[in-house]
Amino acid sequence: MNPKEIGTIIAERQFTLSDNPDRIITARMGMPKVFSDNGDYCCPIQVLGAGNDRVLEVGGVDAVQAIDLALKALGARLWSMQKESGGKIVWLDEGNWDLGLPMINMNQIEVSPAHSLCACVAELNRHGWCQGTGGNFSIVTERDPLRILITQSGKEKGSLTPEDLVLVDSQGKPVEGETGKPSAETLLHAVIAELWEDAGCILHTHSIWNTLLGEHFVDRAGMTISGYEMLKGLEGVKTHEHKVHVPILPNTQDMQDLSEQIRFRHSRNRDLHGFLIAGHGLYTWGETLEQAHRHVEIFEFLFELVGRRTTFRPYNPSP
Ligand SMILES: [Zn+2]
Repeated sequence: MNPKEIGTIIAERQFTLSDNPDRIITARMGMPKVFSDNGDYCCPIQVLGAGNDRVLEVGGVDAVQAIDLALKALGARLWSMQKESGGKIVWLDEGNWDLGLPMINMNQIEVSPAHSLCACVAELNRHGWCQGTGGNFSIVTERDPLRILITQSGKEKGSLTPEDLVLVDSQGKPVEGETGKPSAETLLHAVIAELWEDAGCILHTHSIWNTLLGEHFVDRAGMTISGYEMLKGLEGVKTHEHKVHVPILPNTQDMQDLSEQIRFRHSRNRDLHGFLIAGHGLYTWGETLEQAHRHVEIFEFLFELVGRRTTFRPYNPSP
């Protein structure tokens, strides 16, 4: 199932806001579907009109459990939206505090790491950071021996499903039984996971700003960003005065060469949050998927900021 689409809607309910009765909030549930080889089901849910309309897929051992947990997840999502907005979400009539949905803590709902990665990549794609099947994305599922679940080569990144991921080993090779073709840059993910032992998720985006800046500053082998509040979004950075160094590696199609360059940069400074490949893209990582996702957002924000303040050489195409 497309992680950003609800699919066939089997049920929906409308709510209003007590202080703005004209505003309609719609909770929707999609048709449960099998999502894994072992026959597990997932049921997609979505809340429209309350700010966060991202589709969440809730898993269960069968369709009935997926529906049951999806209803609870909808209740929890509406409740947390109500708490955040400070307003009151109303079903049926104003005096009613009951949303007519069961509620459990969202943390108790298990969303598989593969689903979370697909949803994260779809989100990055919406920003235009992995267009045209560009970029590749992985999570470390096991440390000893190293196992990485990574996006397959050539897949459109806005609509990945867990079937579009492939499990590889420490050499970036598919493990026995895998039939998918891993991304061309899989070895780099394996090297990053090996060198930065805390990395649980590695994300590689191809954005306009990261491509431009990598190309522009490659002669200096890197750039240092300082003075911006948003730097504090990078793990461990406590002040805007922190100097964040971003190495820039020359681009090549030789993955062994690039992995040696990464090893060299790590030996010089292991305190990195990411690096650029010139004219190509960003690699960043985090202990968790959420942290790595945040690092992409922070870097892309900072790159656009630096880029807008930079005068670029005119592009000079050969005749
Ligand atoms: Zn790439």
